Amino acid sequence: MSKSAQLIGLSAAQLSEKLQTGEISAVEATQAHIDRIADVDEAVHAFLTGTSDQALQTASEVDRQRAAGEDLHALAGVPIALKDNIVTKGITTTCASRMLADWNPVYSATVAQRIADAGLPLLGKTNMDEFAMGSTTETSAFGPTHNPWDLNCHPGGSGGGSAAALAAYSTPLALGSDTGGSIRQPGAVTGTVGVKPTYGSVSRYGVIALASSLDQVGPAARTVLDAALLHELIAGYDPRDNTSLNAPVAPVVAAAREGATGDLRGVRIGVITELAGEGYQEDVRLRFAENLDALRQTGAEVVEVSCPNIEHALAAYDVLNAAEASSNLARFDGMRFGQRVEPSDGRPVTVDTVMSASRGAGFGLEVKRRILLGIYALSGENYETVFANAQRVRSVVTEELLAAFKAVDVLVSPTSPAPAGPLGDGKENPEALLHSDVGTIAANLAGTPAMSVPAGLSENNLPVGLQIIAPQRADDRMYRVGAALETALQERWGAPLLAQAPALGQMKVEVSK
Ligand code: GLN
Repeated sequence: MSKSAQLIGLSAAQLSEKLQTGEISAVEATQAHIDRIADVDEAVHAFLTGTSDQALQTASEVDRQRAAGEDLHALAGVPIALKDNIVTKGITTTCASRMLADWNPVYSATVAQRIADAGLPLLGKTNMDEFAMGSTTETSAFGPTHNPWDLNCHPGGSGGGSAAALAAYSTPLALGSDTGGSIRQPGAVTGTVGVKPTYGSVSRYGVIALASSLDQVGPAARTVLDAALLHELIAGYDPRDNTSLNAPVAPVVAAAREGATGDLRGVRIGVITELAGEGYQEDVRLRFAENLDALRQTGAEVVEVSCPNIEHALAAYDVLNAAEASSNLARFDGMRFGQRVEPSDGRPVTVDTVMSASRGAGFGLEVKRRILLGIYALSGENYETVFANAQRVRSVVTEELLAAFKAVDVLVSPTSPAPAGPLGDGKENPEALLHSDVGTIAANLAGTPAMSVPAGLSENNLPVGLQIIAPQRADDRMYRVGAALETALQERWGAPLLAQAPALGQMKVEVSK
């Protein structure tokens, strides 16, 4: 096994350790992942843009700084990939839309800047559903991403590119954005870890907005500890984001290390009754029951909690998401932002015709569907009967979660009702697929943190995830529980679970514990 093939099997924490002792260089770590992408990304298509030259430049700068004895961030030299709705200066940022196909930003998102400042080589920008609308990465204008567990399946969405890149060992770390589950659901169906931090705890400056009252940037990784290391790097106050929390960052790295010992005595875990029954695939329920047993064995107390209105969360989300999206996407008109297209049907070139031609050509069907639905929900008396009602449902769901947290420390559910489906699902039946978010959106409505951790395999060998929800600003609690489950399941399934992906057999990777 070549050194390069060994390096891609390491976690970010392991890479960080070897970089710090000088056992490996940042250039070696980066080159190994660039080679991996060259080998497998034609089949996986996790990346829209590769930035290998820039990554190697960052890596050699880190190596130089380390040789000079400079003080470096623990993740300096550990490569990363960013979802393509995170704005990167000088690097094409498309949001997987024709509308932004050629956009070369003149500034970087705060999270991208923090990552650059800490010396993480950027491998590239990852595929996603267009403007983050979807659950399979198939609404991308640039072709779908394939799930490394089964290349005929989708990798979830909207952040399927980041999750698939992790599962294919093309990167040890990635960032996503989560409006209704877009970090957690792809994590669940690719056997990786996906985290939506507390609303407002990670800056969204320079992250192309979908629904601003729900959007949150978060880490994706293959282990809970890796996600925690990245979480602490990106979280914290940013005066450029007016929803940014000016509060200390939860100590998630310490919590992940504590949880990894497998001891959860004194922790109360609530099972959301309504999110584990009807509509959930049988083997998802089986794994969930096993996961609860594993959690009981850590010493945690597991109790049932009812949130009867959570089933209405999805309908409320659909309205609020569309309403906010229709407003956020108004700026892409071919004049202020986005590709300009002049009418080709003989109409004169006016402000109106250029806007309509630009939006007609630039947006895909799902984006148009949501803009229309959003405008409908906000128009005339619908504002009161549709939009305001959805807001009321949002308040009720939020109150139910808050009430539940009076009795328990964290809440758990399966992340998604089913494992990854075949490619084609997203295009044929977008409405039905929205159902895959049934368990994830409550955390967005309530602004609470939530994460998905690998929770075992379905009957046909596809990963499923367990979701952990914590109260606002108590992100550390879910990391502790997530790490404990990870430890327990490594005993059950062998470590790490991801190494069992059948497609990875052909893609050759040796994973070290
Ligand atoms: N699947 C959800 C949707 O299409 C989630 C989107 C997201 O979190 N960005 O709205």
